Amino acid sequence: MPPVSDASSRSPLAILQEVFGYTAFRGQQQAIVEHVTAGQDALVLMPTGGGKSLCYQVPAIARHRAGLGVTVVVSPLIALMHDQVGALEEVGVHAAFLNSTLSLEDTQRIEREMMAGRMVMLYAAPERVTNLRFQAQLANLHERGLLSLFAIDEAHCVSQWGHDFREDYLQLSVLHERFPDVPRLALTATADDQTRADMIERLQLQDARVFISSFDRPNIRYTLVEKDNPRQQLLRFIRDEHDGDAGIVYCQSRRKVEETAEWLVQQGISALPYHAGLDAKVRQRHQDRFLREDGLVMVATVAFGMGIDKPDVRFVAHLDLPKNIEGYYQETGRAGRDGGEADAWLTYGLADVVNQRRMIDESPASDDFKRIQRGKLDALLALAEAHDCRRVRLLSYFGEVSQPCGNCDNCLHPPATWDGTQAARKLLSCIYRFWQHGQQRFGAGHLIDVLRGKETDKVQQYGHQSLSTFGVGADLSENQWRAVLRQLIALGHVVAEGEYNTLALTDSARAVLKGDVQLTLREAAEAPRRGKAGKGAGKPAAPADLQGDALARFVDLRAWRAEVAREHNLPAYIVFNDATLADMARVAPQTLGELAQISGVGVKKLQAYGEQILRVLKP
Ligand code: ADP
Ligand code: ZN
Repeated sequence: MPPVSDASSRSPLAILQEVFGYTAFRGQQQAIVEHVTAGQDALVLMPTGGGKSLCYQVPAIARHRAGLGVTVVVSPLIALMHDQVGALEEVGVHAAFLNSTLSLEDTQRIEREMMAGRMVMLYAAPERVTNLRFQAQLANLHERGLLSLFAIDEAHCVSQWGHDFREDYLQLSVLHERFPDVPRLALTATADDQTRADMIERLQLQDARVFISSFDRPNIRYTLVEKDNPRQQLLRFIRDEHDGDAGIVYCQSRRKVEETAEWLVQQGISALPYHAGLDAKVRQRHQDRFLREDGLVMVATVAFGMGIDKPDVRFVAHLDLPKNIEGYYQETGRAGRDGGEADAWLTYGLADVVNQRRMIDESPASDDFKRIQRGKLDALLALAEAHDCRRVRLLSYFGEVSQPCGNCDNCLHPPATWDGTQAARKLLSCIYRFWQHGQQRFGAGHLIDVLRGKETDKVQQYGHQSLSTFGVGADLSENQWRAVLRQLIALGHVVAEGEYNTLALTDSARAVLKGDVQLTLREAAEAPRRGKAGKGAGKPAAPADLQGDALARFVDLRAWRAEVAREHNLPAYIVFNDATLADMARVAPQTLGELAQISGVGVKKLQAYGEQILRVLKP
């Protein structure tokens, strides 16, 4: 039997302080932890960086100390289990993972520890948790009263609406069917209504209490710019604002990932590619380097990122349009988990809009599914074309009402807008004239040539110089026309179809043509730079307020941490995160008692590292 401790050391707050070294719970953590520790089911919706891990780790420890046995944590990514378990072992919590990378001996040893109820937390992938052998082991544990809790991480994987859908998650309802008295806690950072309803239904959480946190990430600055030589835009963004920082660049295709990574390296940026087509070993190596080294840029498809809890990712850039706002919010949410300043930067253009629409149209999915996907894309396009606060729109998509944030491109530099109603009417009627003239459709390039009155060969060939719309748009530049067209496609008044993206009007175009709809359009402009003072080239950033001796101490502490991390084969932030190191550097504790007061220093880490840290800090 596991040891049963006295009630005071089982209180959630005592565990938070003793084990994790934090003074207080954040937001709804305390309510969640108490609810789950008491044996109730919960569904937790919290943004990335909100502190979901503690919501199941503290109850797992409390219940283990009360003699209730093992918590099983279902996690979709076996590649990350090693670091998650490493972080728990660092704070003195007995945890392990079971996955296909383990040797038979290790597997057997871990199973013995689990069956003895000695283990506090066991991490496993859904396919493992639901296999027959493991189910039999759980039943055995359960009979002996040693199956404490199920924590289901990334619970949105059960829903087919997101891009993270996992067939294996559907089987997890078996946990409730077979062990109805074992409490379950499902967690996710995806919160739209459809996904929420899906999770409740498919995981049978109808009776669970739902805890919804605000999804705002106030430290992330949102910027969406129009595409105009995207590589150069990206390079400028990284060089000007994130020199030496860790970041993620998302691209849609594998090829573009590789080309972009290679190009960034040529420009002197430390970048690595990541996509599902790379060899598993290479992928793992790149992921490890990204987690363990400072200041790397990962260029990736959406295959990268779920479960990556690196706290100091300073920017997430998108070179292609994501599928929907859920995807965008989740991907950008990987920036700034530590609460420090971070950027979400996206560049998009006409081709993105056309491509995303076409991908939906041409997919083999049902009409219902396509209709929902189109609605989701429209919401994202509206965000991209918005001239008001991006955050207000993002949050309202998740059902939250908020005020203009002061920390997005539109708040900081309100974009110029213009009345595009007349321009839109000219463009639409030109498409209409093409059809009337020769029952034919044309693409964007020719359309703009005709509007601007250019006598090209193609214009001659089709006799389009005789159209009433020929030259009616000479007052706008080609770029401006592209912006008008992009916005009309985004708004759904025009569609681009077929191999050559030829343009056609939709039903809704009629109201615009008649002048019943007023269109306010963004003026094409690049967002000004944030600018960063005093950052050395290629050097990882230190917190801005550290100077003089404190800065020197921080640098020493970081060097010490890097060594420990290498020795333990763990990312540096698992030893201590930057915020904790910065606190140590500021306060410069001289005794173990003083050191214990620093947030992030629990009992186990104090024992393991206290003396070494005091030595590093000695004046
Ligand atoms: P999520 O899984 O929701 O993205 P994490 O569990 O990784 O978030 O937590 C994000 C960061 O916040 C981690 O570095 C964690 O140690 C820290 N954290 C969480 N809760 C607290 C707390 N109550 N006090 C101090 N730091 C906390
Ligand atoms: Zn704003």
